[in-house]
Amino acid sequence: MNDLVSLLALPAIWSGGNPSQVLHTLLDAMVRMLRLELASVRLIDPVSEAPVELVRTAEWRESMPSAHEIFEALSLSLEGDGHKWPQALRKILGDREVSIVPVPLGLNAELGMIVVAAERADFPRQTEALLLNIAANQAVIGLQEARLRSRQKRVADELDRKVRQRTAELVAANAELQLQVAQLQQIPVAAWTILPDGTPDFVNQNWLEYTGQSLDYVQSGPETWMSVVHPEDRERASRSYWEGIGSGRGFTAEVRFRRARDGAYRWHLNRAVALCDADGKLLKFVGTSTDIEDLKQSQEELRITQANLAHVNRVTTMGELTASIAHEVNQPLSGIITNAGTCLRMLASDPPNVEGARETARRTIRDGNRASEVITRLRALFSKKSAATQPIDLNEAAREVIALSFSEFQSGRVVVRQELGDDLPLVNGDRVQLQQVILNLLRNGSDAMSTVDDRARELLIRTELDGDDRVRLSVTDVGVGFESQAAGRLFEPFYTTKNEGMGVGLSVSRSIIERHRGRLWAMPNQGPGVTFSFSIPCKPGDLTGDHNGIGRTPSMTDAG
Ligand code: ADP
Repeated sequence: MNDLVSLLALPAIWSGGNPSQVLHTLLDAMVRMLRLELASVRLIDPVSEAPVELVRTAEWRESMPSAHEIFEALSLSLEGDGHKWPQALRKILGDREVSIVPVPLGLNAELGMIVVAAERADFPRQTEALLLNIAANQAVIGLQEARLRSRQKRVADELDRKVRQRTAELVAANAELQLQVAQLQQIPVAAWTILPDGTPDFVNQNWLEYTGQSLDYVQSGPETWMSVVHPEDRERASRSYWEGIGSGRGFTAEVRFRRARDGAYRWHLNRAVALCDADGKLLKFVGTSTDIEDLKQSQEELRITQANLAHVNRVTTMGELTASIAHEVNQPLSGIITNAGTCLRMLASDPPNVEGARETARRTIRDGNRASEVITRLRALFSKKSAATQPIDLNEAAREVIALSFSEFQSGRVVVRQELGDDLPLVNGDRVQLQQVILNLLRNGSDAMSTVDDRARELLIRTELDGDDRVRLSVTDVGVGFESQAAGRLFEPFYTTKNEGMGVGLSVSRSIIERHRGRLWAMPNQGPGVTFSFSIPCKPGDLTGDHNGIGRTPSMTDAG
């Protein structure tokens, strides 16, 4: 009974021990309790899974075969199922005959086997067999427990390893994250993240410094950041914020934020994008606020400047158009009035001069047509439509202008001398426009001589061939001339030195000549006065469609 209690207590002794310790204790206990010659075990170590063979012999035995020899000797008798093993075998072991008893470990000896040997021929008796079985069962329990513990340990070790590895990974990731956060704090724009419910959960140092808000304050509610938004922008800012958060799409909004440093409101571009996990679930919004005040201001200036430029252009064009029309229509109008007056006088005389009246009425009609023609052509010029081109005899065009202005020159005591070249080729162009240029040059010449009293006020108009394929017309006066610094400005629109002047004649003239693919320039004379000349090609060709010449500043070369 004592032996039984000892055997039953074995697992308690083993708990925590390793399998070989379990087996040693067991074999020792069996040899002692059952007064065995030997006890041996063969099994697969449940922990290391290596084959194990152990033998314990009684203290009085001097020599015993090895466990291996014992099991080899028994192997033929102990094949197969443990149930069918013989209860005991009588064999010579060493120098004496012994009873050998095999006991399977596990139902079918799947864990291994214990083999014991005793000298007595009646071994094992019933109680001994019972004890053997109990010992084997205890061994099985102990071994299974050892296996379980070893497995548990292996799982625990694996768990430990994984925890260590994950911890190391987390530490590395955390360090990386810290670095990213540090970088985020340093970037020169305000950066922030917003939770899906609209509450800011991170703002970088840039934001805190710019706005003077604290992180706690910003995180305390979804709209706390709005305390730095310009009052006029708040409603709009709030609308686009909540639309972007609500839709999950993020937002882009330009809003003025107050800079804590000086209280100035400055425009910011705010952009937030949604950050989702692998399944598309919204995690948060990530965004930046960039100070675009300087950019905005330069845009504003540009709008710049563009509006002013457009206005100036419009005024210039309108002014030129109006002035040209007034200038050109005035002349046929005075003709009409003069002719109409003459006509009335002729009809009132006694007897009425009907033939003369008819002639002056015809001239009235001619001048009326001319005025209307001038307006049509000028409108064509300014609306960029191509003008009517026709072959023109420049001499004839010049003579006509001189005749028209004859009375005007006469009253200004100006003598017009003509040196018109023979056999000049025809030029292709717009007759009225070219006459407008000639008239303008003659009038300017006449004006320049209005204060000249020490010499004859003489205007020379000259035409000649210019190279093979161009014709040149020049008007020379003996007037006051111009200062050399004014030379660059003569052709600028609205440049005038006259009290009644408009300053558009030369700029319009230049644009007309350039439309004829020609050039207009001014040269001071050797003596007093100036010579203005233009040169145009005689080859037929359309007038150019644009009139960019208007308003262009001439170069010094142009002005001579
Ligand atoms: P406006 O005759 O209305 O002043 P123009 O464009 O025809 O406009 O002429 C611009 C300016 O050029 C004149 O005011 C004058 O100062 C100068 N100018 C033009 N022709 C002559 C000339 N023949 N001699 C001296 N100065 C001239």
